[in-house]
Amino acid sequence: MVLFSKLGTVLRTVQLKRLETLRNPFAPTIRYFHPESNLGFGSTVPSSSPEPRIHQKNVAIFWDLDNKPPNPFPPYQAALKLKKTASSFGFVRHMVAYANRHAFSYVPAAIREQRRERNKLTQVENEGLVKPPEPYLCRVCGRNFYYHEKLLNHFKQIHEREHTKRLNQIESARGSQRVKLVAKYSMKMEKYKNAAREILTPKAGYGLADELKRAGFLVRRVSDKPQAADIEMKNHIVEMMDRRRAECLVLVSDDSDFASVVQEAKMRCLKTVVVGNVNDGVLKRIADSGFSWKEIMMGKAQKEAVSVLGKWKDRDVLRRLEWTYKPEEEEKSEYGLGDESEDEDVESNFEGEDDGSMQKDKRRSWWEMESDADSMASRSCK
Ligand SMILES: [Zn+2]
Repeated sequence: MVLFSKLGTVLRTVQLKRLETLRNPFAPTIRYFHPESNLGFGSTVPSSSPEPRIHQKNVAIFWDLDNKPPNPFPPYQAALKLKKTASSFGFVRHMVAYANRHAFSYVPAAIREQRRERNKLTQVENEGLVKPPEPYLCRVCGRNFYYHEKLLNHFKQIHEREHTKRLNQIESARGSQRVKLVAKYSMKMEKYKNAAREILTPKAGYGLADELKRAGFLVRRVSDKPQAADIEMKNHIVEMMDRRRAECLVLVSDDSDFASVVQEAKMRCLKTVVVGNVNDGVLKRIADSGFSWKEIMMGKAQKEAVSVLGKWKDRDVLRRLEWTYKPEEEEKSEYGLGDESEDEDVESNFEGEDDGSMQKDKRRSWWEMESDADSMASRSCK
């Protein structure tokens, strides 16, 4: 019953709208133009209409570090490239990396080799057999040293101590006092961290977590139980989808255990991108798009993202046409008899200068609220 009465009201509104159209053809265009409802999926007229305003999708990156460490690329650079590529799909709102202890304590072969070389050089320097072409510079205070070992000692004895002192001070302060201290020390601490990265060797691993944090990632350490990272990351992705925090999921992994969550994301109308090296893997087959690490690092993925976006847009347009086909037919059969020719005249007057919003208006089903951009978005994917 409720449905029918609602239908009646809507039909009456539509009739009124049509009368208005005849009287003042510009009225509906003005009245029903909602810039927000152009969700960047393209208008309902694929070929002729100009591009609507782009709505930035929120993008979430989830990185399975256990499965896909950034090697052989340096973690900071890899993370930045990943973010840059993901930003082609929208606004990168979430960046999370998951791993267990092993991923953080692991040192890649290239880094191990570098460290070995450094130790050898330090030894020959100390024996007086070689001199560095240029003195070593302390990047905190600017002092020069002719022995790497002396620089290292100086750095540890002075700057590392200062840094620890500052951290302790901040740690023990509360409230506004703490905020003041953080502000006061932020420049110095930043300078120290940048210098320390080059000189000091991390106690474990090669600073993977710090480097990813520096690039803006939220780094989550999980227990060493098998599959712990997978399970926690899956839960995190589902939670994010439940809260509708993102419209595009970028998953960095080759682990087929994530197939179900990618499938789920697709069902919830999220766009899905997988970054992994396995080309014909399950994940890449399910996801809307897939890249390899190399493609990300070489910038190829970023270039390709443009055509991927275009493909998504076209597909959304097709889906919307399918979805709206039937109600349009019904609408016609309701009124079509008497005023059809007049109606067509009015419509044809607008071809060329129409911005697509009017056609969209007509294709909108009766239960779709005109201003309800969100519901349009979710429907367009079904
Ligand atoms: Zn110094």
